[in-house]
Amino acid sequence: MEKLKTILNRIDGKGYKAYKDIKGSYIFSKYRLTIDAVQGDPFASPSKIRLEIPRTKTSLASSDWTKTKPRKIRCEDLVNRFIHRAIRKQSQSAHGTGKSGLIMIDASGQEVLERSAVSISEDAITICLSIGLPARGRRILAKQAEQLFFTSLPTIVDESVFTLQQHDIDKVVRLCDQQEAIRDYIKANDLLAFIADDAILPRESGVSERPLKSGKVIPFRSPDTQTVSIPVPHRDNPLSGMAVKKGITLVVGGGFHGKSTLLQAIEKGIYDHIEGDGREFVITDASAVKIRAEDGRSVSHVDISPFISNLPFGKETTCFSTENASGSTSQAAGIIEALEAGANALLMDEDTCATNFMIRDARMQALVAKASEPITPFIDKIKPLFNNHGVSTILVMGGTGDYFDVADQVIRMENYSPFDVTKEAKEITANMVFNRQNEGGGSFGGINSRCIMPGSLDSRKGKKNSVKTRGKHTIQYGSDTINLGQVEQLADESQTRMIAEILYYIERESVLNNVKDLASLLDLIEAKMDQEGLGSFVVFKGHPGELARPRRFEIAAAINRKRHIRVRVSSGKKEKEE
Ligand code: ADP
Ligand code: MG
Repeated sequence: MEKLKTILNRIDGKGYKAYKDIKGSYIFSKYRLTIDAVQGDPFASPSKIRLEIPRTKTSLASSDWTKTKPRKIRCEDLVNRFIHRAIRKQSQSAHGTGKSGLIMIDASGQEVLERSAVSISEDAITICLSIGLPARGRRILAKQAEQLFFTSLPTIVDESVFTLQQHDIDKVVRLCDQQEAIRDYIKANDLLAFIADDAILPRESGVSERPLKSGKVIPFRSPDTQTVSIPVPHRDNPLSGMAVKKGITLVVGGGFHGKSTLLQAIEKGIYDHIEGDGREFVITDASAVKIRAEDGRSVSHVDISPFISNLPFGKETTCFSTENASGSTSQAAGIIEALEAGANALLMDEDTCATNFMIRDARMQALVAKASEPITPFIDKIKPLFNNHGVSTILVMGGTGDYFDVADQVIRMENYSPFDVTKEAKEITANMVFNRQNEGGGSFGGINSRCIMPGSLDSRKGKKNSVKTRGKHTIQYGSDTINLGQVEQLADESQTRMIAEILYYIERESVLNNVKDLASLLDLIEAKMDQEGLGSFVVFKGHPGELARPRRFEIAAAINRKRHIRVRVSSGKKEKEE
């Protein structure tokens, strides 16, 4: 501690580079401070520090709080939120140039994700922060740095980790146990999703994940026929709400009646949400994948033949590649890629689907012969997909009744409330016959697993390797830009950073030499995250970075959107290489 003061005194007023001298560890009264990385100038990305607090001295001392992985993640998330709040309470006016004096944590959003910013081990709570070391111009302001290390940081720790009470922890751990119980129930009872009564689904705005508060908000209320009651711990009465069963679920209803809002809540139900979010008890099978049309994306060697064949000029669709996919080919590729990565359910909204991919009605069949239509519409594959591969679909579709034929459940949204109209829909199907022909041929077709060739990931740019992210939606990988703007279940830019770290790890460690296909690559990555943690992917030892755990599907999405990947199709006869 005194040592840090001495160094700071010595480098006061010197050039910014002299800050390098403060790297190292220092013992403070309540924690150990480690300065892992020092920024090169006041405008560069901030310096990385860690605080390690002995657990026994805190309200998190009991191992009960962290005895399961979900509980541990919940407690880490809670500490993260307390620190973020304590940081915001400090006067954060930058005293000096650039980021001088700023203190930052990689803060959690509405979801609870496994993150590297706070980690709780058996004996310590480690908090990773970024700080802007103070300077005027390029001259070190040691007094301000001293203020930061000896006043601001200890205050933040006092007002977070040491303010945290047992009952704060108890609250989040209870919610965690309840959400886990619902996830278990869903698995055990062949459900895809559960939306509890009284859930608040609409969000503040298109760019905010916070609950809608203004105007009249209608809480969710399950139709009687779809209601289940789930016993959950720490609560006298079971939780009631709507069960979405496996199979094919159609959501219909007039425009603006809340269809997309329901689907979006289901999409995000793959994550747990914090208390007060409104979606605490909206829980979805974590292997449900949102599918949408994404024209303009690249596609590499995907067998889209279940949906598209006989393209004009004989272009191959069992191993389809394009630099610029259309709406329908991008949607077909998205589905096949999700299946390859192991999706159990597909989520689709007419608002973001390609119409010609979804429907082809009786009149169009009469006018345009099947022989001159390359697309087999999704409606003719949705059932085989479930029958052959056990993959369910939840589909929002207000514009056509053709899907009544294939739906197992039909939910109508009206004034933001759901009604079970399965029986009515089936009656209409029986009474209004359109003579639409099934063009799907009864079986879905096999799902190829592709083997990504070593060399597909190449981050070299000039003489250096360069992997960067910009916000939630962009990974700059060498000279390639990976655009994740339409990967809708990506929740947090820290997940994007983690995906970039994973890709670079795969390249650096030549992982592609040792796996047989994409699915086993994803298995291996998930196992490493489970066993060694997120930080284990990072080259730099010490501060593990600002990372949050992505699902395998979003990792696959990034690989699939990277241009110029080379692939060998491993099951099936075709051995293709670009
Ligand atoms: P649809 O997809 O059926 O056209 P949306 O889901 O887009 O309708 O919803 C239309 C609007 O209604 C959105 O602005 C949404 O925020 C709002 N909304 C949805 N559900 C509710 C609700 N339960 N209470 C209040 N407003 C809601
Ligand atoms: Mg909509």
